[in-house]
Amino acid sequence: MQVNGQVIKELGTKVSANDEILVDGVPIQREQHHYYLLNKPRGVISSAHDDKGRKTVVDILKDGGVVDRIYPVGRLDYDTTGIMILTNDGALANRLMHPKFEVEKTYIAKVKGVVKNDDMRQLRRGIKIDGRRTKGAKCKLMEVSDDRQTSRVRLTIHEGHYHQVKRMLKAVGHPVMKLHREVYDGLTLTGIPNAGEWRELKPEEVAHLK
Ligand code: URA
Repeated sequence: MQVNGQVIKELGTKVSANDEILVDGVPIQREQHHYYLLNKPRGVISSAHDDKGRKTVVDILKDGGVVDRIYPVGRLDYDTTGIMILTNDGALANRLMHPKFEVEKTYIAKVKGVVKNDDMRQLRRGIKIDGRRTKGAKCKLMEVSDDRQTSRVRLTIHEGHYHQVKRMLKAVGHPVMKLHREVYDGLTLTGIPNAGEWRELKPEEVAHLK
């Protein structure tokens, strides 16, 4: 085996994605990386497979002709809609999901009740969930319904704890009725405004993620 022109005899030699590897003088075939952006609909599981046979985000792309072995980057709840990346680039996916990278995610939530300034102050300070405090969220009240039964808030967080947005809003007295993610690490749903639509990421968008 040769790596970048050097003959390698040691077992367990580490190579990186950009190294040229020849086995018996023949370059090894690598899976090409592909990156997709999906506007996830409600009622779809954000994993590659579902034991109960429910439709997954990967099924949506497969139905559209994608043949790569792709995985979603992170999770959205079954009833949450919005932006989600899928890729066969495991290294990038792991990096984006690692808490240390603090990827910024923005959600629009329709919640019960009228969100008050004090509720927003608490969200900005961080909320105690399961004995630990979340980091502070950026938070903006978008609208209160005419009948004052519901509000819409925009929330930006850098973490991804289980049901984090729903739990933060519930903790300040406003259970979430609908949740939509509109921004993921600076990417938006441009070009795919409707639930269920998807597209490939542009090279400059991939470069931005890396
Ligand atoms: N926070 C939630 O509570 N649900 C999601 O789907 C995403 C973030």
